[in-house]
Amino acid sequence: MIVLVGRMREFGTTVFAEMTALAVRTGAINLGQGFPDEDGPPAMLDRAVEAIRGGLNQYPPGPGVSELRQAIADHQKVRYGLAYDPDSEILVTVGATEAITASVLALCEPGSEVIVFEPYYDSYPAAIAMAGAVRRAVPLRVEAGRFAFDPAELRSAVTPKTRAILVNSPHNPTGTVFTPAELAAIAALCREHDLIAITDEVYEHLTFDDIPHVPLATLPGMRERTVTISSAGKTFSVTGWKTGWICAAPELIRAIQTVKQFLTFTAAAPWQLAVAYALRHELDWVGTLRGALQGKRDRLMAGLAAAGFEVLRPSGTYFVQTDIRPLGFADGLDLTRRLPELAGVVAIPTQVFYDEPEMGRHYVRFAFCKKDAVIDEAIARLSRLG
Ligand SMILES: *Cc1c(COP(=O)(O)O)cnc(C)c1O
Repeated sequence: MIVLVGRMREFGTTVFAEMTALAVRTGAINLGQGFPDEDGPPAMLDRAVEAIRGGLNQYPPGPGVSELRQAIADHQKVRYGLAYDPDSEILVTVGATEAITASVLALCEPGSEVIVFEPYYDSYPAAIAMAGAVRRAVPLRVEAGRFAFDPAELRSAVTPKTRAILVNSPHNPTGTVFTPAELAAIAALCREHDLIAITDEVYEHLTFDDIPHVPLATLPGMRERTVTISSAGKTFSVTGWKTGWICAAPELIRAIQTVKQFLTFTAAAPWQLAVAYALRHELDWVGTLRGALQGKRDRLMAGLAAAGFEVLRPSGTYFVQTDIRPLGFADGLDLTRRLPELAGVVAIPTQVFYDEPEMGRHYVRFAFCKKDAVIDEAIARLSRLG
């Protein structure tokens, strides 16, 4: 008997579950799922413990604890020059994941179209399906060593039914940071066709080579039509805290909160105070993390290149993309299923993040948000492949 509703049937178990289970079963090094193997800033962790000990254990307000909303408002103002009213324009969510799903559910009618760039983060198609909306994928193709979209192709994906475009920069799984020209092309399309932009900026602090993160909301005419989403998980190495937030115009926030209140009502209280503290006092720690991650990126890139992969240089995130063809492989899904046995390492096949898997068939993603010793051991093992 098929019990799962039709609109969710294309979403089986995620590739992350499959590959992580494979890593556990074979004892392989897991460079698949992107979670750091070191903790966030100690003083922030102390704040969470203090919040629990101090009795912050009942339902916080629906929009989020006011200290956190104020800290988010100050962060957006100081860092990007974007002013948001903490009472009417900021909503705290259960991670960026809930923020994205609640936004799509609140803003996109069944049958309306949502543009995503492929390869996409795996929750986007599921959120669109839950809303009964239709996804339109625009491919990122490797062009001069990075994944990029063709503005004409993006333009031709817009139809009279298009309601929103989901933008993720820095981009998982490719590591692309959209250039000012790419952001301008997206913004022009949104203004021209009256589209809502839903931006996933969870890697906003994790860009490399001094490339700045530019929120789409800072572009002309975009603040009022952009739902800006971020989260503490990647910035402060606490992916298990599931504390995210949305900044947007009051009518957008009201719509999204209408949905969010019946998904989870509110987000867990203790983490909110700790994240408020971190946004105010731990951005230096984040700067150090960014530098360390850049070093890990370079370490893994060099090792993968020496092992025979063609390596693409990411400008942000936790991930590096490799082309497996120089090693004599053609299919990333096939290779990643055999990689634990061939080399004792787990990675993620990029093709699973495409509507058209063929386009991503020869790419495999490796995560470098791991201890140097773990990266070195993975490289030593992968060097046997050649
Ligand atoms: C990790 C990640 C998320 C999920 O963030 P949470 O705050 O854990 O829900 C969303 N989008 C992208 C691109 C991510 O990499």
